[in-house]
Formats: sequence, C-alpha cells, structure tokens
Amino acid sequence: MSEQKQWSRRQILSLFAKGSGILMGASLFQIPGFTKLFADAVEEVPVLFLQGGCCTGCSVSLLNSVSPTIQDVLLGEILPGVSLSTLWHSNVSAAQGHQVMDILDDVKARPKGSFVLVMEGTVQTKDDGIYCGFGERGDKHYTMYEHILDLAPNAMAIISMGTCAAFGGIPAAPPNPTGSKSVKAVLDEHGIDTPVVNVPGCPPHPDWIIGTIATVLIGGLGAVDVDQYGRPKAFFGTLIHDNCPYRGHFDAGRFARDFGEKGCMYELGCKGPVTHSDCPHRKWNGGVNWIIGAGHPCMGCVEPFFPFGDNIFERVPIHFATAPATYPPIVTERPSKVSPVVTGVLGAAAGAAAGAALSKKKKSEESTVKEKEE
Ligand code: SF4
Ligand code: SF4
Repeated sequence: MSEQKQWSRRQILSLFAKGSGILMGASLFQIPGFTKLFADAVEEVPVLFLQGGCCTGCSVSLLNSVSPTIQDVLLGEILPGVSLSTLWHSNVSAAQGHQVMDILDDVKARPKGSFVLVMEGTVQTKDDGIYCGFGERGDKHYTMYEHILDLAPNAMAIISMGTCAAFGGIPAAPPNPTGSKSVKAVLDEHGIDTPVVNVPGCPPHPDWIIGTIATVLIGGLGAVDVDQYGRPKAFFGTLIHDNCPYRGHFDAGRFARDFGEKGCMYELGCKGPVTHSDCPHRKWNGGVNWIIGAGHPCMGCVEPFFPFGDNIFERVPIHFATAPATYPPIVTERPSKVSPVVTGVLGAAAGAAAGAALSKKKKSEESTVKEKEE
C-alpha cells in the first residue's frame, strides 16, 4: 500500500482496535489522513482536564509530546484554523479563579455525552474529600470528589490518565491517609456508569494519552479495544519481557547482579515478565531510550500492583517461559540465583527446543536416505 494513500476512518480505527504494529512504533499523526480525521472530530467534542491526587507528572509527560508537539495539540492548529477544543487544563489554560468555576458550571449544564473528561490523579474520598479541591461557590469549598460526581455522569467517556487515576497508584498506597481511590472505583461506588478508559503509567507515555483521546474523539468508546484492566490493547497488549532486548540474556541465564552490570535485570527485581506495554518498541523522549535501555529494571508502572503490591527489588514469578528455539544454548560459568522453579521451566523450554532440533535433524536424515534410495 502506498504511504501516500489516505486511510479511511474505518481502517484507522480498525488498526487501533487490533493494536496494530503500525501504532506500536509510530505516531498516529504520521498515518496519512489521521490528522484530518482528528481535526474533524475535535471540532465536535471538547475535552476537559482535571487533576486530583497527583504530582502533575502525567501532564508534564503529555507536555513533552514530540509528534505531534503539544503546542499543536493543545494550543496550535492541527489544520489551518482548527484547534483541539480544550475546555480547561490547569497547567496550560489562562483561566483562573471564578473563571474556572464558570467553565465547570457550563460543562455540568451540557447534555450527556457532549464532552470527554480526562482525569489525572486519584479522587480523595476520606472526610468528604476535604484533602483535595478547588473553587468556591459562596462560602462553600468544592472538593475534587464533588467535581467528579457532578461532571462524570454527563461525560461521553472518562480517560483516567496515569496509574493514580487508573488504579490508585502512589496516593492510594498504604496507609492511604486521604482515602485515595481510582476514578473507576469512585464511579462504581456511586452507580455512575460513564465508560472509563484507563491509560496507566507513572507517568503514561504522551503517545498513549494522545492516541487514546484521539481514538475516543474519532470513533467513540467502541473504537478502543481494552483489556481486563480497561487499558487500550493497542498500547498495553504485549508483555515487556517478550520484546525486551535482554530476553536472550534471560534465556541464557546471564543475569546482572548489581546495577550497572551487563545482563538481564530479572534478579534485580525487573517487572518486565508481568508488565504489559509497548515500551520496548515505543521508547521515551521521542523514541530515544527507555528504562531498561538505560540500565534499570522495569518497575511495572502500568500495572495495578504498582507501586507496592510487589516488592520493588524482588523477583516476580515467571508465568510464561516461552524461550525462543532460535537461541543457541550458552553455558555460563556464573552460578545463577534464579529459583529452581524458573530454571526448571527454562530447562523444560530448552529441552523442548532440543527435542524440536533433534526431530528436525531426524526428518532431514530420513529425507536424505529417501533421496538416495530414489
Ligand atoms: S526480566 Fe526484565 S531485563 Fe530481563 S529480559 Fe525480562 S524484561 Fe528484559
Ligand atoms: S518500562 Fe516499565 S517502568 Fe518503564 S514506563 Fe514502561 S512499564 Fe513503566
């Protein structure tokens, strides 16, 4: 297919729903035709950003978007004369004080399904949510808890941006003195059935955020195929461990024992074997590098167990030991600290690979004998 071909709306959404490899390594905005579709969609559905219990890291990550630049997405023109209709974002919007409350009142009065709400951070619920809020009406201080309960019912969809909004993350870590909860947990408690798409990450990659917002705006919720944790499969459908450049070291038993050593970082607590994201392909800072490439184990920041469901520096269980048969057996002189269960599974995988090789060799010998007989 020619790169110049304009993709149809249906084709692009179908690619996104399937988690296509095209979307794994490239910006949506590099797909011919996508920018035009996005521009048409953003004219119709405005987006409101709110921040609850968070460090603003997700917004900082979003502001670091390289393709498209955040100026183009939030402030500039996607096409001549067409800009994303951002109702308000606390870090980039000029409105302050009563102007913001007026904007929120206007959004609350909108018909159901007429805007998308992007929420960053947890909803703090203890003591009626007094630990997080902004704005007043008369003598009344508004908590974020109240803002969410007011706004969520009428939103077309809520995008939980970052692991705090998606799963609770750091603000909800024990002892959780503010009663922090994920957006979905709060909506469920109050019987609000507005669909929620989780875009976790501490912080999430800007492509994950913009890609998800763009797809919801263009195709609605039906265009986003999500996994059991409400994450778009296009970004969170693959295991880091299966695509890691150190996978060969893991299969060969070459493990780093200290930070800075060469080798797979499984024994240093790498969560790659239980973490689902496209980080190995997409990388960060415009595709320059990523955490494992920089010599640190994956922390599993997109999973519900982050940050303290698992000990950060302890080994995780291996559920899927699928050693590629293409790796030759490598004898390492260094004894491994990997548990007997893991080595057992790896041994079984190596045995299977050796069996397959023997079977292939036998077949080859049989066909040679047959050829000679003929
Ligand atoms: S354990 Fe971590 S460093 Fe090792 S191969 Fe898996 S993802 Fe890569
Ligand atoms: S590599 Fe792991 S810790 Fe780093 S962003 Fe991806 S999921 Fe999070």
